[in-house]
Amino acid sequence: MSTAHHCDAAARAEQVLARRGARITQLRRDVLRALMREDRPVGAYQLFDQLKARDAASAPPAVYRALDFLVGEGMAHKLQSLNAYVGCACFEHAHDAHFLICRGCNAAEEVPTTAIRKQVDTDAAERGFAVERMVVETVGLCADCKGRA
Ligand SMILES: [Zn+2]
Ligand SMILES: [Zn+2]
Repeated sequence: MSTAHHCDAAARAEQVLARRGARITQLRRDVLRALMREDRPVGAYQLFDQLKARDAASAPPAVYRALDFLVGEGMAHKLQSLNAYVGCACFEHAHDAHFLICRGCNAAEEVPTTAIRKQVDTDAAERGFAVERMVVETVGLCADCKGRA
């Protein structure tokens, strides 16, 4: 994806947050832009390093809070298996996430989860469990890395 696309995504995300009445601090904005700029998941410490030079508020706890905020608003997803965050361009609609994570190049492609979510809802309902959030992480090799293997 081009740089222009990522700038657009960050700007559109800020508009959506503003419309929701969410408070957009400079740090939240910087974290959002940093995530949208990357085409790979970013670890929190990588973000601290990027941000500390220009944002005095970017102590690790503040960056974690900004990340939690963005995940809560659907602007980013947290990938537990990589302990990293990835910006999401489909933030207009609340959605679950399924990621195909390549262990060769760390690319994480987000794909629709509709069918998976239906099954999860069925399984959960049978147990009286209320689903709040679902992130499916599938680890393997992307087409490029598989070709090189
Ligand atoms: Zn998403
Ligand atoms: Zn790969």
